[in-house]
Amino acid sequence: MGKSNESIQQLSRIIRDANSIVAICGADMVSASGYTDLESDDVFYDIEMKYGASTPELYSSRCYNTRPEQFFEFYRNEVICEKEPSAGYYALAELERRGKIRSIITKDVHGIPQKAGSHRVLEYHGNIYHNECPKCKRQYSIDYVKQADKVPRCEQCNSVVRPKIVLPGEMVPNHVMTEVVNAISQADVVLLLGVTDPFYEIEKMIQYYNGDKLVYIRETIMEPDDRVNIFINDKVCNVLPEAII
Ligand SMILES: [Zn+2]
Repeated sequence: MGKSNESIQQLSRIIRDANSIVAICGADMVSASGYTDLESDDVFYDIEMKYGASTPELYSSRCYNTRPEQFFEFYRNEVICEKEPSAGYYALAELERRGKIRSIITKDVHGIPQKAGSHRVLEYHGNIYHNECPKCKRQYSIDYVKQADKVPRCEQCNSVVRPKIVLPGEMVPNHVMTEVVNAISQADVVLLLGVTDPFYEIEKMIQYYNGDKLVYIRETIMEPDDRVNIFINDKVCNVLPEAII
């Protein structure tokens, strides 16, 4: 593991010199905090057994629109949950306190970086704490959604309240993608943290990075990629807290 230690020292120097870090948090960071990865194979079969339908069928705008009872049963049981953030998120919050963080970018919808104390968070798929009536735009809390009898309805106009999250297959709003692009193009360092589908989804984001400090930390080995300047083959929670001491 000598090589890993060397890389951590290198990362440590990069962070020390940085003023505008963008951290992109991936699925491994989310599951390290104890959240279920709804896209994993094991979970896929459990869901089929339990609901008689697959996650893509249930977790969709089509299901919300046509079978809201089933959508909210799934949403309440499988999507809404609160866990303790893993160590990597606390390291990011500490970096933010030191004025190092430009933005923390995440697709996750559980507000995990904020629970660890971060504020500069760009959740490009939204989050479960924002719920809105699609018709009259009245806002609702997560408790309102949790406590509703089957389907949460707007108190004012009786429409089905919509969690303000981007469901699979839906487009990320343009202004949100613009914020993401601005953050990445202004970054002096980009940290890819526990991103499991390298470049497939974030390729469009990474192309806006102009620097030479793209650091990729993840547990599983990957094919070498020219765009990655430092690759650290370890869990984020093992690396990041050590690199910021
Ligand atoms: Zn309404």
